[in-house]
Amino acid sequence: MEKEYKKGDVLEVTINDMSDEGLGIGKHDGYALFVKDTVVGDKCKVKIMKAKKNYAFAHLEEVIVPSSFRITPNCKFAKACGGCQLQAMSYEAELEFKENKVKNNLIRLGGFSEEYIESIKEPIVGMEQPFRYRNKAQYPIGYDKEGNLVAGFYAGRTHDIIPNTDCFLGREINKEILECILSFMKKEKISAYDEKTGKGLLRHVLIREGFSTGEIMVCLIVNAKSLEKEQELCSILTKEIPAIKSICLNSNLKDTNVIMGDETRVLWGKETIEDELDGVRFKISARSFYQINPVQTERLYKKALDYASLTGKESVWDLYCGIGTISLFLARKAGKVYGVEIIPEAIADAKENANLNGIKNAEFFVGKAEEVLPEFYNNPDSENMLHPDVIVVDPPRKGCDEKCLETMLQMEPERIVYVSCDSATLARDLKILCAEKYELKAWQCYDQFCRTVHCETVVCLNKNFSKPKDYIQIGIDAEDYYRIKESEKKSE
Ligand code: SAH
Repeated sequence: MEKEYKKGDVLEVTINDMSDEGLGIGKHDGYALFVKDTVVGDKCKVKIMKAKKNYAFAHLEEVIVPSSFRITPNCKFAKACGGCQLQAMSYEAELEFKENKVKNNLIRLGGFSEEYIESIKEPIVGMEQPFRYRNKAQYPIGYDKEGNLVAGFYAGRTHDIIPNTDCFLGREINKEILECILSFMKKEKISAYDEKTGKGLLRHVLIREGFSTGEIMVCLIVNAKSLEKEQELCSILTKEIPAIKSICLNSNLKDTNVIMGDETRVLWGKETIEDELDGVRFKISARSFYQINPVQTERLYKKALDYASLTGKESVWDLYCGIGTISLFLARKAGKVYGVEIIPEAIADAKENANLNGIKNAEFFVGKAEEVLPEFYNNPDSENMLHPDVIVVDPPRKGCDEKCLETMLQMEPERIVYVSCDSATLARDLKILCAEKYELKAWQCYDQFCRTVHCETVVCLNKNFSKPKDYIQIGIDAEDYYRIKESEKKSE
């Protein structure tokens, strides 16, 4: 009879794989155990917390023989905090883990052969220092068990706050800013918001820094329209930390765990701070979406630009464009760029950012990519936008909508550049795009979210075509041949 596993069982297991969420996986007589805080190669003692028929979640009781990849986490809150999943793993092992995860998805879900995927891989780009890379931090404010006012992070899966004003992924200056705010609150007896009762004032502190300009924005998220002595707090903060260029108050009166409310008011200084990526300047307001790791973002976008192979004449669509970050990168090298994004405020930012940089060849549309693109494709007036040279997509985790993929295939751009934050949906979409018309030419991972399980990937697809008969005779590269034929067609 098969052995039955139950809650409370203590077992010895060797971890030999890792789940997408960063849980170590080990097998005990074929029964899978998912264990938090373990590293591939660890031999450990674990205790079952929740048992299912074929697998269980278990708690790490003791590492008997540590993996050669195991390191001591830099942050003493690594185990309790829900933020980083891979702190006990060496950074080299982390990069390998991420690249393998993407590779396996391309093979398993994309249907590509391992040999092919390996042959077109460009090595993962990691950071020199995988810490202090975040330009944005959102600290919840509350009370610890003894009733002390604290700022920190939610413990994994709960809303208990672990007091920590110096998260290792964020900037060192965050600590100074938070401690200044906490001491002001204590002195003025300003309360923190309590999720259980809905009472109290300060909910979160959001801090953002433009790395290239050094400008800092502090946004207080408050369960009210104003804060007592708010101007006094501003003058203390700006005196202590001169890099602060903007202080805002966002009112969130709702009983919700969505962090920000709809109303934002400037308390001191400017409404936005600025940052620069490879010479393109961006205005960032308290609520705008902006990539959190600017160093890796710049590298990733340069690669996307490289894959787009622009010469200055091309027409390009940038789908899921956000505030136009990739669009403006592309516009400097393209004939015309069309950006599409679902959030109207982001498009307003994109237009403003285009103006700020004197970029005139970018046009932006609000709407769903899967609706805007077919509308253009089916509208005879949009003739010049029908056959773009390049389409770039950077969708959220759920990937591209099928209608969007279908229209991209109809539009037949020469190249498609796909930037993805979820390799499972990337692989699923590539299977559709590469079924007939497109060929996967290259792929590369960029570690944007060091010490967490998330990973960005950028891939390049070229329009496929059956080799023409005279291809061998003229002896030129297939792509060049195709380009010549195209320009012949155009000049006819
Ligand atoms: N390319 C941008 C943003 C990428 S994040 C950057 O690098 O900064 C993905 C974006 O897709 C988000 O801004 C989100 O609002 C947008 N989005 C989500 N669903 C969408 C849809 N169906 N159509 C268009 N945009 C969408």
